[in-house]
Amino acid sequence: MHEMSIAMNIVDIACKEAQSEGASTISIIELDVGKLAGVMIDSLKFCYDSVCKNTLAEGSELVINEISGSGHCLDCATEFEIDSFMALCPNCESYKVDINQGRELRLKAVTVN
Ligand SMILES: [Zn+2]
Repeated sequence: MHEMSIAMNIVDIACKEAQSEGASTISIIELDVGKLAGVMIDSLKFCYDSVCKNTLAEGSELVINEISGSGHCLDCATEFEIDSFMALCPNCESYKVDINQGRELRLKAVTVN
């Protein structure tokens, strides 16, 4: 499962970060997840708890900041919100759309004890 490997990756990075700071437990892991990142947030949350078992992050809370998608049209330069990959320019109906944001998937903060 896609989300399982994402969860493992995130927890792995967070644990290494916590270890390098000499922390013994992680209380909160905060993520930025773009709406166009292709991540099922419910599924990620579900995987998260099992991935955290027997790590520094066991019992920690996963906080997700959802980032809305936006892009601009390469033909007429209109900027607009995007909430799916099949984006169409609302001004000229061009398919030549470049995504500005919304594909983010990054570890934002790790709170340790
Ligand atoms: Zn356009």
